[in-house]
Amino acid sequence: MAASLRLRGATSGLRYWSHRQRPAAASLAAVCSRSMASKTPVGFIGLGNMGNPMAKNLMKHGYPLIIYDVFPDACKEFQEAGEQVVSSPADVAEKADRIITMLPTSINAVEAYSGANGILKKVKKGSLLIDSSTIDPSVSKELAKEVEKMGAVFMDAPVSGGVGAARSGNLTFMVGGVEEEFAAAQELLGCMGSNVVYCGAVGTGQAAKICNNMLLAISMIGTAEAMNLGIRLGLDPKLLAKILNMSSGRCWSSDTYNPVPGVMDGVPSANNYQGGFGTTLMAKDLGLAQDSATSTKSPILLGSLAHQIYRIMCAKGYSTKDFSAVFQFLREEENF
Ligand code: NAD
Repeated sequence: MAASLRLRGATSGLRYWSHRQRPAAASLAAVCSRSMASKTPVGFIGLGNMGNPMAKNLMKHGYPLIIYDVFPDACKEFQEAGEQVVSSPADVAEKADRIITMLPTSINAVEAYSGANGILKKVKKGSLLIDSSTIDPSVSKELAKEVEKMGAVFMDAPVSGGVGAARSGNLTFMVGGVEEEFAAAQELLGCMGSNVVYCGAVGTGQAAKICNNMLLAISMIGTAEAMNLGIRLGLDPKLLAKILNMSSGRCWSSDTYNPVPGVMDGVPSANNYQGGFGTTLMAKDLGLAQDSATSTKSPILLGSLAHQIYRIMCAKGYSTKDFSAVFQFLREEENF
């Protein structure tokens, strides 16, 4: 790592904070020269379902933005709000020394960093590059090596919480990278999330995220199966959900994001499974869990089954629906 990066090094020792224990602004400014230039422009690449509200929260905290998305319409409202829209990730890197990427897959992240007009073409020494996409941890590690060769810093910081938490600034960030840089990352991530957790070396943020989403997929399928069975046994779905939620079967999928239409308001199942977290993205995350399980020789019997279920759902027309549509999928499989 470049000497200039090491010089900024004194760490706060803070490895985790939530809004309840936000570090004092003064202590953040002391640990990093980038932090001292706190309201200099921040680059944001990928303004989709998640990136859009995340970038808006940075704006609310007073950060001018340098924006890029391959889909120009995604930049429109930021341009109208007076933010600067540029025509490639390289141009973002030329104008900002702190950049956040929020892209669908590993392939998109590699393109944005190492492509013909990627960030690495014009990245400035000492820049902080934070990737919040959910991608393969091994790709994060490769990107970190490439970024380090350019004298800059890469951190993986995938999120949990979905579109609602992105809007309200209550995401959980799982951060991997050089610990000395964590405080500088917190300054930005804290504008978009209520929990920012340091996980360890580069790639460990992705590792935590993949484990969480594998468990989420399994618990969502389990909740959908239990609800479907109960309904077929003659139980009222609202009553069954109430009983589960006061019993040992309770989980996030049953009490916060119930997959059965009519049980809860304000969740995708109440809106024909529109919005939320797409079935394609869940299938992608389970594929990452599958690859990681193979490379670490870890048994993930239910994770593998969940992967196949979500892949079949994609093939059967559910790809754009929220992942809780697994309930509808089970209802339609009369011959199971
Ligand atoms: P999305 O598809 O809605 O948005 C991605 C955006 O990236 C799009 O606007 C697309 O045009 C843009 N893009 C793609 N390739 C690009 C490139 N090379 N350069 C610039 N822009 C590019 O996806 P999303 O729902 O916002 O998810 C983003 C990431 O966050 C994914 O990795 C997903 O797994 C993860 N995630 C999503 C949710 C959720 O609830 N949607 C929750 C947690 C994590």
